[in-house]
Amino acid sequence: MMLSHNLPRGNSSDRIAVRVKGKGALALRQWHPWLFEDSIEKISRDGRPGDVAVVYNQEKSVLGAGLYDPSSPVRVKMLSFGPSKIPVGPELFRKLCLESKQLRDGRISADTNAWRLINGESDAFPGMVADKYADVLVLKVYTPAFIPWLGDIADALFELYPELRRLAIRFSREVQRMSDEVRFGLLDGTLLADGSQAWDGAVQFLENGIIFEADVKSGQKTGFFLDQRDNRAAVGELAKGAGRVLNLFSYSGGFSLYAARAGAAEVYSVDFSKHAIAAACRNFALNTSDRNIASCKHFGITGDAFEVMNNMEKEKKLFDIVVVDPPSFAKSAAEKSTAIKSYARLAGSAVKLIRNKGILVFASCSSRICADELFEVVHEVAASAGRPLDEFMRTSHAADHPARFKESNYLKCLYARV
Ligand code: SAH
Repeated sequence: MMLSHNLPRGNSSDRIAVRVKGKGALALRQWHPWLFEDSIEKISRDGRPGDVAVVYNQEKSVLGAGLYDPSSPVRVKMLSFGPSKIPVGPELFRKLCLESKQLRDGRISADTNAWRLINGESDAFPGMVADKYADVLVLKVYTPAFIPWLGDIADALFELYPELRRLAIRFSREVQRMSDEVRFGLLDGTLLADGSQAWDGAVQFLENGIIFEADVKSGQKTGFFLDQRDNRAAVGELAKGAGRVLNLFSYSGGFSLYAARAGAAEVYSVDFSKHAIAAACRNFALNTSDRNIASCKHFGITGDAFEVMNNMEKEKKLFDIVVVDPPSFAKSAAEKSTAIKSYARLAGSAVKLIRNKGILVFASCSSRICADELFEVVHEVAASAGRPLDEFMRTSHAADHPARFKESNYLKCLYARV
């Protein structure tokens, strides 16, 4: 039985014609994947989520095609541009999935079997991501427009990655609220290759040779923060011979394990989620065949990073490396200035915990705050705390997280000696 047998499959024949104004036409000519509601001049009928929308300009030339989404200001999620020969449907999804695979082929190391197969709009799927953890495919859906097509998309991915034997489907909170199919639990969940549901969503996988376990059913995002893979590896390099490493906002201990494998004597993982800390401890236990990890002293601390740092400062604890990888503090434009203040407080506390010539690794995933703006503040705060930064590297997403548009560029990470 096909793993995706009970998922919905779309209907390519029932299309909506959408005519756009000049501004929208210009964006589509530049292959921008979002067609906003206010760029639309006329639609041939009211659409349901996931209806195929064919977009025309005033001169009646076809600009592209996508999926209609009546619930969102991004009214059409564009899938193809220009007068495409392939209509929206299984064949187009196969082509887009193949293109995303070709982009990654040869760029994932042999000792890594978990990566992002589809990174939203940067892989031509605006509002959906697909991650692979060993033999598990996770589809995470951020717009109801993809729901009618989930079976077609899953089929394409199963065909391209024959090692996949399990499937987990997850929906963003907004989609859970909006879609009846999702609300009534008809779609989300986890499935085994035989179509049965006797699997709790736990999966072990390898990242650069380290064993991790993710909970793809109820963990954050799709179970793991795959986008930080290269930064974790970089911290692994920097931690060679380190004494103490502090990993703030650790989640399941990603950075901690790399530091431990590099030989750090003590590693502290701090997260306010007790599930995250429990997962970090389990991940240490999974890797005891590595001598360095087995002999590293790991401290899992469940608590607020700001408070934990204050206490450590009082105790005069110092670290060779402090990793700061907080969640996005700016979820909307209105939150931007408070978010910058929080980042500043974090940086101010972090530098005080770093020994002379130690290293600060400071990441942010707020797409609303750009790297220059954020890191200028981090530099200022550190300097005024008497701990100026000697920045030696700045990085972004790993190769399986392409960011083709200004809006999809969220991750930045600064490395500096203090
Ligand atoms: N560095 C991690 C990913 C971090 S995600 C990795 O490589 O996998 C951000 C984490 O911060 C989440 O696990 C969340 O639970 C935690 N978090 C959010 N606010 C926090 C706070 N105030 N104090 C401690 N942890 C917090």
